[in-house]
Amino acid sequence: MLSIAHGATGAFIASKIPNPLISIPLVLLSHYIEDRIPHWDVGQGLTAKKKSRKAAFLQELFFDFPLSIIIVYFIFQAGHPFDWRVWMGWFVGLTPDFLEFPYLFMDARFFPIKQLAAFHGLVHRSTPHKLWGLLPQLLVILLVILLK
Ligand SMILES: [Zn+2]
Repeated sequence: MLSIAHGATGAFIASKIPNPLISIPLVLLSHYIEDRIPHWDVGQGLTAKKKSRKAAFLQELFFDFPLSIIIVYFIFQAGHPFDWRVWMGWFVGLTPDFLEFPYLFMDARFFPIKQLAAFHGLVHRSTPHKLWGLLPQLLVILLVILLK
C-alpha cells in the first residue's frame, strides 16, 4: 500500500499498544497484511517496466511520503503533545518499504536486501486500477480516524 496507509496504520497500532515490544512486531505484520490486499501504489508498473524508476521515486518523494507525515500529524498529533509512539509506529509502518528501496532504486542485490525484497514481492498484491487500488487504502485511513 501507499505510505499514507502504512504510516497511519503503524501510528494507530503504536498509539494503542504502549509496549513497543508488542506494537513493533504488530506494525510490521500490518504492513505485510495490508500489502496482501490488491492495491495501487507508486511502485505499480515498476517491475513490469511500465513506469520509470524516476517517476515512481518522484511520486513517492513529493506525494506519498510527505502526505503520510501530514496525515499522521493531523490524525494523531494536531493539538496534542508530541507522542514518540505515534512517530515510531509511522516509521516502523514504512520500514519494509524503506528496506526495499535499495533493491528497487539502486539495484542492490545482496543479502539481506534481496531476500527481504523477495519476501515483500511474495506477499505484495497490486492492481493497475487506480480507483479500486486506492479505495481499500482510503478505507484503512477512514478506519484509523474512526477508531483512534
Ligand atoms: Zn510494502
